[in-house]
Amino acid sequence: MLTLAKSTLRAPRDYSACSGCNLCLLVCPVWRRTHDFSMTPHGRAKALQFGADASDIAASVQSCTLCAACEPVCPEEIPLVAMTLDLRRQLPRPAAMADLLAAMEKPGSPSAAMAVPSATVLLPGTALRDRPSTLARVRALLQESGAAAIGADDGADIALALEAGAAIPQRRLDRFLRPLHGVKKIVVADGLLLRHMQPLLPGSKIIGVGEALSGLAAVRSALRANDLYVIEARAYHADYQRLVRYYDSLRAAAGCAFNLDLQRIAIPATARSLPQRLGLDAIDDGVQLRWILQGRKVTRIVVESMEDRAAFQGVSALPVVHLADLADDGTSSV
Ligand code: SF4
Ligand code: SF4
Repeated sequence: MLTLAKSTLRAPRDYSACSGCNLCLLVCPVWRRTHDFSMTPHGRAKALQFGADASDIAASVQSCTLCAACEPVCPEEIPLVAMTLDLRRQLPRPAAMADLLAAMEKPGSPSAAMAVPSATVLLPGTALRDRPSTLARVRALLQESGAAAIGADDGADIALALEAGAAIPQRRLDRFLRPLHGVKKIVVADGLLLRHMQPLLPGSKIIGVGEALSGLAAVRSALRANDLYVIEARAYHADYQRLVRYYDSLRAAAGCAFNLDLQRIAIPATARSLPQRLGLDAIDDGVQLRWILQGRKVTRIVVESMEDRAAFQGVSALPVVHLADLADDGTSSV
């Protein structure tokens, strides 16, 4: 068994380093929704510093959305996402995970290498696969810079297991990674999966769907000054130092509003706890989404993530358009 979040074993800092500065509260969607100090990184750190263990703070550990917005703001450089996953690993596994992990233990059919070698492979995830017209556009856009294929195995089960901090069986991991060895560019829709893949495939450029599409001239030229551009928070914070510069340049070129705060932290739109992602609790993104929209004079919302698209459509009368659908001026988004 291999734990993908291996970096936690080498973590240079942990909760004992928390100074209690509270900066993480400013960006945390769980704090915004609950105003419950115990549900924040600072709250978890203080509890652990005073002798609590994972089971004492289980509700707090499971409530984290893994958006990673707190990591770049933490002056103590505590790897807060990895710390949360470590704590989840110490808790009893949710019953909803049992079937998933049992299936991952089975041999399965070996993944062949790509039949046609591709410069780019897209791992779309469930939400993008559920909208075939947008998925086809994403692939067509990626195709413009060379052969692009959609990965038959996009690791959706691995992404879900990662949410629970579960160890991924080595056999399953090998089956997932084998066809990706040697691929130059891998475009990953799930930001948590992307974060964990980067150290496992050091020879590949691994980027999010948002970065891949917004780098294309056809997509950039379709952005308007009165758009609100919603960055997918998990992929962004997974590579924050590099992507701050990337999105600075996109902002300058497009001239539209972004879901960035003054420190250029991406305010997460869809903020989901582990029970919500497992379908055990109702989803309540409303507070977060209305906060992002508050006081903005925009006429269209452009999203990188299909989950964000569905969420904004639930709270706003504005057109909500996925980046890939900008190519046809958003008419396909309705
Ligand atoms: S990862 Fe997101 S939800 Fe979790 S503690 Fe950090 S800011 Fe809050
Ligand atoms: S930002 Fe870091 S140091 Fe400050 S309270 Fe949060 S976890 Fe602690």
